[in-house]
Amino acid sequence: MGLSDENALRMARLLHHRKAALKQGDPIVPPITASATYHLPHVQAGGQFYGRNGNPTWDAVEAQLSLLEEAEVASFPSGMAAIAAALFSTLKAGDRLVIPADGYYVTRVLSQGFLKPLGVEVQLLPTASYGTADFAGAAVVYLETPSNPGLDVVDIAAVSARAHAAGAKVIADNTTMTPLLQQPLDLGCDLVVAADTKAPAGHSDVLFGHVAGRDAALMARVRDWRRMSGAIPGPFEAFLVHRGIGTLEVRLERMCASAATVAGRLAVHPAVRVLRYPGLACDPSHWAVGSQMANGGFLIGFELANAGVAEGFLARCPLIEQSTSFGGTHSAAERRARWGDAVPEGFIRLSVGVEPVEVLWAAIDAALRR
Ligand SMILES: *Cc1c(COP(=O)(O)O)cnc(C)c1O
Repeated sequence: MGLSDENALRMARLLHHRKAALKQGDPIVPPITASATYHLPHVQAGGQFYGRNGNPTWDAVEAQLSLLEEAEVASFPSGMAAIAAALFSTLKAGDRLVIPADGYYVTRVLSQGFLKPLGVEVQLLPTASYGTADFAGAAVVYLETPSNPGLDVVDIAAVSARAHAAGAKVIADNTTMTPLLQQPLDLGCDLVVAADTKAPAGHSDVLFGHVAGRDAALMARVRDWRRMSGAIPGPFEAFLVHRGIGTLEVRLERMCASAATVAGRLAVHPAVRVLRYPGLACDPSHWAVGSQMANGGFLIGFELANAGVAEGFLARCPLIEQSTSFGGTHSAAERRARWGDAVPEGFIRLSVGVEPVEVLWAAIDAALRR
């Protein structure tokens, strides 16, 4: 799937990250530490001291993600908790925030509903316009690439350089790619945010998120936000995410290869109008594949004739779960216009799962034909 040598090494180290600290008889798998309080005769002696400040099960997930991001990581109970932490840690009244007009919609609603009333100017910018926008006067340039659900791509290095020249900090939502397929911090971003709810946890049974960064002062502020807002992950959730991340690479390998196959066939299918998949040579986002993105990912956007045809297809296909979200082991899809996304009525976002691809394709093809 185009995994770099560095990432292959990071993934292998991730699977053994606990080894060096293990003592005779220790569990190989991190225990779920469900304690709010810790033995604390002396405050200064170090170690854990209270459940809102730290937890050994979060530490295990953060160690995995730190290896992948090559950065400090703070984990959160959802992707949105991570995004809120990054925004509230970097913005103040009078600042201007640039966010995608076509990205994950809750980020927009959070910014307009909560940051704007606190005096932050919120500027919406289509993802496709980031490449040419003027960032003068912006405090934070927030980008999402490929964007969800349109799959437009931002040139992260070029936009980071221009945003930094304008004095802005850059935050990237890396959810659709994961740190295995794209490394925004290497390309100049100050912070990465991600919903590990999606492919990293990977089994659609837990919400989780993280913020990653290489600036110690900024990351200290992110952790302060977590401690003071109280947006802390639970130890059971951290355990599930730790377990999921162990198979992230093998799942992604199957999912992305299958997505490339399915996208190539959908693109020439008579029922399909427009199709977006960055992995296809004809896609406007394809320039980024192989450089910025390791491959085309596992998300496909495509348009059927109208809402009724799209709903009928989703209802008929036995191997596609009709649900929101993406990155799980099962293929899942939905008609995005039902959430008010600015996409055609018949536009479907398909998250390709780990089903054997020919069986999956046969089911998709049959559901499209009827
Ligand atoms: C799902 C998602 C989020 C939010 O994650 P939650 O875990 O649901 O809070 C943020 N950004 C993107 C791009 C997403 O797809």
